[in-house]
Amino acid sequence: MIKFITGTMKSGKSMKLIKDLLESNRDYMVFKPDIDKRNEIESRKHFNYTKPHIIDSDFNFLEFFYSPEYEYTDYDGEKVYEIPNIYIDECQFLTITQIKQLEKIVNKSFVTNVYFYGLLSDFNYRIFNDTIQYILIIADKIIKLKSVCDKCEDNNAKFNYLKEIPFAGSNVLIGDDAYDVYCSECLDKIRSLY
Ligand SMILES: [Zn+2]
Repeated sequence: MIKFITGTMKSGKSMKLIKDLLESNRDYMVFKPDIDKRNEIESRKHFNYTKPHIIDSDFNFLEFFYSPEYEYTDYDGEKVYEIPNIYIDECQFLTITQIKQLEKIVNKSFVTNVYFYGLLSDFNYRIFNDTIQYILIIADKIIKLKSVCDKCEDNNAKFNYLKEIPFAGSNVLIGDDAYDVYCSECLDKIRSLY
């Protein structure tokens, strides 16, 4: 099964990841793309848990998991792979190739689940990028986390609002501090100011 846990900035995706790990009843591994310079999964409450494997865009999940470390021989003498559940933080920064590798792992396995945690939309109120678009297509289950609107404080924020103009052409601005999150109504009000 492929599950996508998503939401705005400040929606607690990383806290949800930590909670899911604590509740996991299978072995797991956590991966995180190296584009995010915040070293740890942001855990404001400072839970300790297994450090994520930091990976770059060349990292190949198939080569990593279809390797002797995860291989054993079953009763019929056949070579099989026992792959743990895979958790991906900041999944928007994986390549589509990497997402397809993970898709293949799930399709080949009866037991391995992949959990993606990442942003749904950018500050232009569009799907964040092609990677997220692809994850939306292949996910068996999608969970949208709610976050608190920075203006009215209703727990219904759906939009990332960029407080400062980013470098041209970049939607890879990292860090919750650069954003406010707003509900639909508050976003309308703020946009009408300009
Ligand atoms: Zn609001």
